[in-house]
Amino acid sequence: MQDHNSKAKIITNSDEETIDAGEKFAMTLQAGDIVCLYGDLGAGKTTITKGVARGLGVKDRIISPTFSLVRQHEIDNKLIKTFYHLDLYRLENEDEIKSIGIEEILSDPQGVVLIEWAEKMNNLLPKKRREIRIENIDENRREITIFN
Ligand code: ADP
Ligand code: MG
Repeated sequence: MQDHNSKAKIITNSDEETIDAGEKFAMTLQAGDIVCLYGDLGAGKTTITKGVARGLGVKDRIISPTFSLVRQHEIDNKLIKTFYHLDLYRLENEDEIKSIGIEEILSDPQGVVLIEWAEKMNNLLPKKRREIRIENIDENRREITIFN
């Protein structure tokens, strides 16, 4: 477990508010950052990812890379050139992720990497990383905790 010296909590009441939260969070990202997303199925990980992507200037539509594990989006006019979106829900073991070249992805100095179900590659995660946890409060409300 990482040391968390600060965190911010917000409650969102809709998809759009969660997307906005992701967009604001994206403003704090720098090239080389790794963002781990935690939360149950349907919590809103892919939804907040849409906001992060929007904030970074990604023009592609964001859909979860469920079968390929990773989708790569190129970004124009930024220090950040590539947004890597991983979804490890279906990952069975860490060897499987080594086969997609995870080490190169994690060490791309011009990339930002966001990982849904990051707990599935716990042993491969760098110490320096950002974390977001999303919890269901009820059908349309989510509690989002952002650790620095
Ligand atoms: P995950 O990627 O964590 O499995 P998704 O983002 O794909 O979850 O799905 C979240 C689901 O919850 C969507 O159907 C979305 O419409 C719904 N939802 C309802 N309220 C919210 C909210 N406040 N924030 C995010 N998603 C919400
Ligand atoms: Mg998802």
